Amino acid sequence: MRELTRMFNYKFKLLIAMSLFFAQLISANASVKVNISIEQPEHHLALVELKFEQVHKNKVNFHLPTWRTGRYQTLNLANGIREFIAKDSQGNVLSWKKTDKSTWQVADTKDKEIILSYQVYANQLAKRTRHIDDSHAFLDSSAVVMYSDVSRGLTHNIQLVVPEEWRSFSGLEIGGNEHQFIASNYDQLVDSPIETGINEHHQFNVDSRQYELVIWGEGNFDSAKMVKDLQILVKQSKHIWQGYPFKRYVFMVHATSGARGATEHVNSTIIQRSRFKFSTRKDYLSFIAVAAHEFVHTWNVKQYRPKGIVPYDYQQENYSNLLWLVEGSTSYLQYQLLLRGSLMTTDEFFTALAKRITAHRHKPGATSQSVAQASFDAWISEGGDYGNNHSVNIYAEGFLASWLLDFDILTKTALSKSYRNAHNQLYQQHRLPKSYKEEDVLNILKQVTGEDYQVWWQENIHSTTAIDFSLLLAKAGLEMSYDKGGDDKASTKSKVWTGLKIKPNTYGLTVSSVEKNSPAWHAGITTEDVLVAIDGLRLADKAFEHRLKDFKPKQNITMTYFRRDKLRTTTLELATMPKNKLKIIPMAKASTQQKAFFKAWTGVDFPEKK
Ligand SMILES: [Zn+2]
Repeated sequence: MRELTRMFNYKFKLLIAMSLFFAQLISANASVKVNISIEQPEHHLALVELKFEQVHKNKVNFHLPTWRTGRYQTLNLANGIREFIAKDSQGNVLSWKKTDKSTWQVADTKDKEIILSYQVYANQLAKRTRHIDDSHAFLDSSAVVMYSDVSRGLTHNIQLVVPEEWRSFSGLEIGGNEHQFIASNYDQLVDSPIETGINEHHQFNVDSRQYELVIWGEGNFDSAKMVKDLQILVKQSKHIWQGYPFKRYVFMVHATSGARGATEHVNSTIIQRSRFKFSTRKDYLSFIAVAAHEFVHTWNVKQYRPKGIVPYDYQQENYSNLLWLVEGSTSYLQYQLLLRGSLMTTDEFFTALAKRITAHRHKPGATSQSVAQASFDAWISEGGDYGNNHSVNIYAEGFLASWLLDFDILTKTALSKSYRNAHNQLYQQHRLPKSYKEEDVLNILKQVTGEDYQVWWQENIHSTTAIDFSLLLAKAGLEMSYDKGGDDKASTKSKVWTGLKIKPNTYGLTVSSVEKNSPAWHAGITTEDVLVAIDGLRLADKAFEHRLKDFKPKQNITMTYFRRDKLRTTTLELATMPKNKLKIIPMAKASTQQKAFFKAWTGVDFPEKK
């Protein structure tokens, strides 16, 4: 069955590749005209009209994707489509039916131009798919524009009809007016979202490339600083890749409430942040780190990507064991840009590393799932309590796999090569429309180091691995240290550990996660339990951690809680709070070799201890 599915996938992908190829042959001038009219923005509605040139088939299937690029999860995009009408150029209505959730099959189409029109409901801000309100519209075309096997390869001319004071931006080529864009094919269209509305726009040039920053929303950001730092950021990619895959790049920012996260696109990115999360150093650092992450993606995944996701199959999941390399390596390489551009200090880098190590240590799933398995299952990953205890995340653990690989390459090549060289080779040798497989990555590692990586790959990518962080950090002259803080009488922190995470809600102190093998895990407490008392005394709201301050490790407490409305009691043996507040610091007596390793790794000088 699995083999059959694979055969089908292969045939399907071949069909897509062929249709893209033949579509290009049909006519260099053939195009799809896309009209997106935003007439009722306050109701989140747009009217879309698509004009397709003559087709020679009796019926045509038009699809809306079931997912969008950069988010490896199926989404209910077709659910926002209503009032679908198909006509020919004479205005005759053509009959149609839906053949699956995302496919509209139009009949009687032979030798006719086809005009589709439909309404789109756009109210998915946080998913970065489509959002329209009375101040703007963000349109990722995978959630707005339909395609057929033939039209996918054709030029798309997009005309927006928007309120008069709105201004429109996109990574796409600009057409005859500011609300007109041209995409050379559907794949470029869906990978180039459009931001239109009332916004702030900045433009700058670096190394004869044009960059733009578009910000929708109000907040505590300093756009002059953002422009200054983005100018520095975009210069740093030369430390990883030889060459730029674009002439123009657009950073789009949504400063809003109720949304966070970001998505990479072919020559643009959309970054969403809470409107008041820009001004403190911590918040700003997080913004610029996200910008660095998305900019790295312009090469890693937008220019070279694993075989399972080339070409994109928009109608179903696209499987690959290498999504950790797509996401985790990007999280890893983002620091190369930040450090080399002095956008982040070494101390800030150490804090970020310490946070990642601590998170890994509280990730029991790291002993259950390899990064290759997590990559394959990204499409069904839901995170949460089960995810934390039994799975890994392609970002966090992919970061660690990349770090291990980088240090291994630096060691094997006596600091002459690094993981950056491997990424540059992926870019030089496997750029789209090519793709890369695991064997290709192994070949590149062999080219870069002269050594075979089969065993390393099996141990670190296809198996779960225990990482010796002390050993790893020592290579670069760094060590781990822990904030004592414990004996300080004024300390408000509890010394005991339960393994529980609590999220107070209307029901009370609701358990949101229980770390595997922790005291709470052994006591049988689970997510959604509502804690009500310790040793028979009511737990006041938000007082859980405070209450634990009065207990010592190894002490037993009686925990009373509701599980689905029924009162229950259990005994929990408290443990010692695991060494907290990990800090990474430079060794006082780091050797010349360690300092050289640090410099080869980060591009900046070893920070001497003050
Ligand atoms: Zn990413």
